[in-house]
Amino acid sequence: MGRVYNFSAGPAVLPEEVLREAADEMLDYRGAGMSVMEMSHRSKTYTGIIEAAEADLRELMGIPDNYQVLFLQGGASQQFAAVPMNLMKNCVADYIITGAWAKKAWQEGQIFGDARAIASSADETFSYIPDCSDLDVSPDADYVHICENNTIYGTKFHTLPNTLGKDLVADVSSCILSEPVDITRYGVMYGGAQKNIGPAGVVISIIREDLIREDVLEGTPTMLKWKTQADAGSMYNTPPAYGIYICGKVFKWVKAQGGLEAMQARNQEKAALLYDYLDQSSMFSGTVRKEDRSLMNVPFVTGDADLDAAFVAEAKAAGLENLKGHRSVGGMRASIYNAMPRAGVEALVEFMDGFERARK
Ligand SMILES: *Cc1c(COP(=O)(O)O)cnc(C)c1O
Repeated sequence: MGRVYNFSAGPAVLPEEVLREAADEMLDYRGAGMSVMEMSHRSKTYTGIIEAAEADLRELMGIPDNYQVLFLQGGASQQFAAVPMNLMKNCVADYIITGAWAKKAWQEGQIFGDARAIASSADETFSYIPDCSDLDVSPDADYVHICENNTIYGTKFHTLPNTLGKDLVADVSSCILSEPVDITRYGVMYGGAQKNIGPAGVVISIIREDLIREDVLEGTPTMLKWKTQADAGSMYNTPPAYGIYICGKVFKWVKAQGGLEAMQARNQEKAALLYDYLDQSSMFSGTVRKEDRSLMNVPFVTGDADLDAAFVAEAKAAGLENLKGHRSVGGMRASIYNAMPRAGVEALVEFMDGFERARK
């Protein structure tokens, strides 16, 4: 069987060109006589790989010199702890609760200090982004945390919150590289690679330099101090070397597609195909308030659990995989990250239309 259209929320689809290139280089990386998986992370060859990856990411995202880029392990979930450990001075932080990941970050923050929920969309199953123009930001907050794209619920902050000058910390796991960003609006952004970049095992943290400090919370493990990895160029210990190599290939792929403006245009087109279909369908409907819709994760339902299950099963048989929604929302979810080709979304819409017509 050939490759399917994989709508998984993560780990997720990667560009086919990247996988082919990695396959070609598997046994002998460009004359090194070994795989990247097998080489010392201190070797000249590997140093070249990680340095190129960082340089390409900096160029793609327009990351200014006063921000550090760290390639870390432990996933976004470990950054939920690293954020308070590295940033809490007053031991007060404000969190905006827009879904399961935002809530997990908030709960982790509570271990270390007074983590306050200053806005939430829990009242309507996280189907919208709360108004964050006039928040009750704590005067002594060390930072304000958001989850910018809510992978499970399919919402996205299209306007960043007004933090009244407090540093914004954002979990960008499922939207990084999907559109251009102004890094200077953030103190810290972090994201696991396995949604929109590369294989699981790499988390990227982009941190304004003044927030990388020696005087972190007492008891912070060496490995969780951003300063440890910043001083060592992400190589205090063995980094997720092979994963970073694949991330580097994806950065080059995104550059070859035309960079983040081009990705955004493609992503908007792909998402519009699906949302436009959902908006006219009499069987399927989107679950998210229109103005807060994500370009990356599109949840939808029929309103009938048996019909949802039949849809997921028939779609799978037609080569459209991983469309089952998260258990907390039910129904379906199509994750249409950068690497999902437009043809995949077209195939999905065509399949949905046929499924709907057959049951009229
Ligand atoms: C997947 C995801 C996480 C968890 O990432 P791990 O790398 O598994 O820790 C956190 N936040 C968001 C927004 C996610 O989509």
